[in-house]
Parts: sequence; C-alpha cells; structure tokens
Amino acid sequence: MNDPSLAILVQAVILEDLHRFGKSQLRMSDPSVQIDVVVSPPFMENTWMIRREGRQDCLVIDPGFTPQAVMGILDEHKLVPAAILLTHGHVDHIAGNAELRRRWPELPILIGTGDAPMLTDARANLSLKGGPAVTSPPADRLLAEPDRVEMAGFVLEVLDLPGHSPGHIAYVLKTEEPHLVFGGDVLFQGSIGRCDLPGGSQKLLVSGIRKKLFSLPDDTVVYPGHGDPTTVGEEKRTNPFCGLSA
Ligand SMILES: [Zn+2]
Repeated sequence: MNDPSLAILVQAVILEDLHRFGKSQLRMSDPSVQIDVVVSPPFMENTWMIRREGRQDCLVIDPGFTPQAVMGILDEHKLVPAAILLTHGHVDHIAGNAELRRRWPELPILIGTGDAPMLTDARANLSLKGGPAVTSPPADRLLAEPDRVEMAGFVLEVLDLPGHSPGHIAYVLKTEEPHLVFGGDVLFQGSIGRCDLPGGSQKLLVSGIRKKLFSLPDDTVVYPGHGDPTTVGEEKRTNPFCGLSA
C-alpha cells in the first residue's frame, strides 16, 4: 500500500490523461501555472503540486500515503514547498504531512478550522478504521471562508464546503483563466464525496456544491481528491448527484 513505484506509475497515467484533456475537453490554464499530481494507493488519492513557472517555491495540496513520490517530483524540479494546503482531515489526505515536515521543518500546515482536530487524532482522521494510527503535526493556520491564502505567487480563496467532513474547504484560484478549484472530496467527475462518515451530510454537500461551485464559470477546472479533473459546466450538465437534472 505504500509502494512508491506504483504511485509513480499511476501518476504517469494520470499526467497522460491531463495531457489528453488539454488537447480535447479542458481549456487548460495559463501555461505559467504548472500542475503535477501523485496518486497514492490504496484510495487513489490525488496530491496536487502547483507552481508558477520560473519560481522555486510551490504549494502541496493533500499529501497522502506516498510522500516519497511527492518529494521526488519536488526534487526533480528543484522546488521547496511554501506550504501544505489541506482540503480536509481524513487520513488519506494528511498521511504525508509528517514526512514532509521532517524534510522541511518550517513548512506550515493549513487546514479548515472544523477539521483541524483530525490532524492529531488517529480516531478522528479515520486511520484506525483499517490500518495503523496516523497523525500529523498540528495546524499552523486555520482557514474558513472568506480567508485568502497568498503564497508561492498564488492567491487562493477559501470556500467552506462541509458534508464529506465537517470542516472541509476548497481552494479557488480566481486569478487564473479559466479559474481553478482544488476541491478535495466534494465534487468528482460524475460523482460526489461520500457522506456516510462521521460529520457527513449529503444535503449540506449538494447544497454547497450548487451554491458555491456551480456559481463559478462553466469552464472552471476542478482538481478533485480522487479521479480525473473535470469542469463546473460538465458536472452541472451530467452529475447524477448534484447536476441540474438530479
Ligand atoms: Zn475524505
């Protein structure tokens, strides 16, 4: 489950997919924004790394079970992370925090206020459900709407989107065209985050998606916590859980 070679293999497939998207369905963002992904088994969780071309700092979003693969990509591009941004506190999204902090002791960890207790509580972050206890260093900054994170040359607006977890947030880059969303486990291609975990609510999740994500332009690209990127317009039209005809 911690095999980095598997993660790198999967990552290669996903990057090929992103490339294909770029040619066909998705209008890609400003080429000066570079986006890499590591997909970690066993939940195929996406760790996104974003940077501006020409800069040596970057942001790491949701480092999961294969932090070695994340560090491999950062080293390959000679990058130093400016922060770990977390969408929520479930184990598959935070398991890499401790390892990254060992490498970069000053690296700040940012998370939504409501999910912050999960970082240091193995029961709350669900790691005890099927594996060894996992904890993370505590948060350095707590986020909630309408906070903004200005780091590594980016401005990210915070949206509160509870329903998958109580303190789930998403990060929106409205300075890019099209806009980008790092959405965690809220809106997936053809699906939504599960709502049967502690603190979950499908009603809250769907209403949050419709009110806060579907009000973004249709060409907004959503980079989810699992699976391929999608767009707001595509999910509005076709998503069976929260789409306009659902
Ligand atoms: Zn989750």
